[in-house]
Amino acid sequence: MKLNLKIITPRGTYFEGQVDYLSVKSVDGQLGILPRHTPLIAPLVISKLSFVNNHETNDFAISDGVLIVEKELTTVLVSTIESKNDIDLQRALDAKKRAEERLAHSDEIDVKRAQASLSRALNRINVKQS
Ligand code: ATP
Repeated sequence: MKLNLKIITPRGTYFEGQVDYLSVKSVDGQLGILPRHTPLIAPLVISKLSFVNNHETNDFAISDGVLIVEKELTTVLVSTIESKNDIDLQRALDAKKRAEERLAHSDEIDVKRAQASLSRALNRINVKQS
């Protein structure tokens, strides 16, 4: 028995297929989803998403989003997702530097926005280097 998984972004369907296991991070912590998991909806945080199929693990960096586990289908809705392979490390390092510089002179900037940008960059660096 496999898990039917669909990963959707504003650009369209990013992934659709059957997997053995899905690992995501919700606001309440790490979640492991196996086939026949109880239906559930959970908000996802900027983090690493992994799925395993035939003993092969695939890692992705995701922005925040939503996980919807239904009986026949598990859906992940995310603003952005990049596979480990597709992450441009230099771009993430540059984004990290920009966010850190903004936060260092934080009187005139949108601190929350800079912190979110920093989280996305650190997550991409972490997934790329994991
Ligand atoms: P940047 O400042 O580098 O654009 P960001 O965190 O503001 O980073 P997002 O708004 O999260 O970027 O993403 C915009 C688009 O760029 C998305 O399609 C995302 O998948 C892609 N993207 C962002 N950073 C990277 C990266 N380091 N490697 C590959 N794709 C990336």
